[in-house]
Amino acid sequence: MTHDERLAALEEVASDVRSCTRCRLHETRTRAVPGEGNADTEVVFVGEGPGQNEDRQGRPFVGRAGDLLVKFLATLRWRRDEVFITNIVKCRPPENRDPEPDEVAACAPYLQRQLEILDPALVVTLGRHSLGRFMPGSRISQAHGTVRPVDPATGASNALVFAMYHPAAALRTPDIERTSYDDVAAIPAALLESRARRAATGGDRPSTPTPGAVSTMPPGAVLLAEPPPDVAPDATLF
Ligand code: URA
Ligand code: SF4
Repeated sequence: MTHDERLAALEEVASDVRSCTRCRLHETRTRAVPGEGNADTEVVFVGEGPGQNEDRQGRPFVGRAGDLLVKFLATLRWRRDEVFITNIVKCRPPENRDPEPDEVAACAPYLQRQLEILDPALVVTLGRHSLGRFMPGSRISQAHGTVRPVDPATGASNALVFAMYHPAAALRTPDIERTSYDDVAAIPAALLESRARRAATGGDRPSTPTPGAVSTMPPGAVLLAEPPPDVAPDATLF
């Protein structure tokens, strides 16, 4: 897909989400929150669902949790508009309750389509609900900071997933906040690992930037020729 085709396809998903009535969450939403970011990115962050601020603005991660996510990204010298940010459910669960399994299932095709379009190298899960989609059966306390191949049935046909705690959990618990900064520091190594796998399987992107694109990849990652020496290879990876 060209850059323009990806943009158009993402806009079509967003438009379908905004008019969606597939689950009861449409009844209480102010605005649906399809997700946003760079159509040419290699990295997709997946949270749980919109909160109050997101529901008002129609944009993901624009409240306190979003501010912390932006700080995490800044430690890699990445900006939020260089990655793609979305959620498991695209409409706010009332009172910020957990999304119900039938709501998660009803909304799944939208994330699947987004991943098919973006073809990311790395999916970063934020919190339990997102973890459940990409590392089914694992516990966040064990899985955070680790990588695994993604099941292509998710829509990401050749990606690794990297698990993180939800930034809202980091806001509540200083220990989790510290752990999350450590976890974020391991993202570039995970991205490089995924690039190497994709190159080996022929699924990598052309390295010439698309004219008109902001960037084809987060700048912090491009500068890294190899993982930082203090990042140990993850034995759970392969
Ligand atoms: N929490 C989420 O999981 N997603 C958002 O978009 C905002 C807060
Ligand atoms: Fe549709 Fe998803 Fe919103 Fe439910 S949460 S109404 S499935 S967009």
